[in-house]
Amino acid sequence: MPLLKTPAVVLKSRKWGDADRIVTFFTLKHGKVRGVARGARRMKSRFGSSLEPFVHCDLVLFEKPGDTLYRISQTDISHAFPSIRTSLEAITGAARLANLAGAVTADGDAVPHVFHALLEGLRAIEDSGDPALTAALYELEILRFAGYLPHMDRCNACQERTHGGAWFFSPRAGGTVCSACVRREPVRCPSVSPACLAFFRQALRMELSLLPRLKPTAAIRNELYEVIELYVECVAGRRMPRAQGLCAAEPKRAYRRAVSDVGAQLIAPR
Ligand SMILES: [Zn+2]
Repeated sequence: MPLLKTPAVVLKSRKWGDADRIVTFFTLKHGKVRGVARGARRMKSRFGSSLEPFVHCDLVLFEKPGDTLYRISQTDISHAFPSIRTSLEAITGAARLANLAGAVTADGDAVPHVFHALLEGLRAIEDSGDPALTAALYELEILRFAGYLPHMDRCNACQERTHGGAWFFSPRAGGTVCSACVRREPVRCPSVSPACLAFFRQALRMELSLLPRLKPTAAIRNELYEVIELYVECVAGRRMPRAQGLCAAEPKRAYRRAVSDVGAQLIAPR
């Protein structure tokens, strides 16, 4: 039975049978893989808390002939991102990155750059005073490395680079379109202000480690969230946890309910 050993990040997990879990990982060497953790829900499980979403671990799996699911043999936690779990905004941002990395890559396809962007994004969210913005910027990085970088330097329909009118964002075209071409788009395309375009271009040129230095105005931030959310939904083909509208200052009950909603999405069956 071949053994696989690889660094991994837990994307999600769900209950399986009486005492087991099925866990989806994004791994450095084998991309997205799913495995069964036998006995993971027992009190004295050897897996402990290592199968919680976002945990970065060293993973050992083995293949069982005739079964598409791996068996999870061992997980050694490298970092569990405890401070992400104390803020709803951070949990939501981390969930967006985990869902996106899983949605834009195929099972078993190693995409090391996406793995690193996911891991760097989780680290940046953990250290960030502004997790929603940090998550949005790292969503762009994951899209970039998965081959879906939006093009914001021309009209993606007629290829015109300079035109005097307004610009719009077409998720279907994968970037900006001009005011003439937007009339032929089948779905609504939001307008993109010159300031937001400039911000986008700057973010797309910057190194990963410098992204947290960007501080857009509230107006740019709202445009940015709308564009990224539309595009991610188009690329990933399904709704993602919302970037906005969740705030840790909400009343405790609503906070707990929202946390459990996000948690439910993370452990929902595929
Ligand atoms: Zn055009």
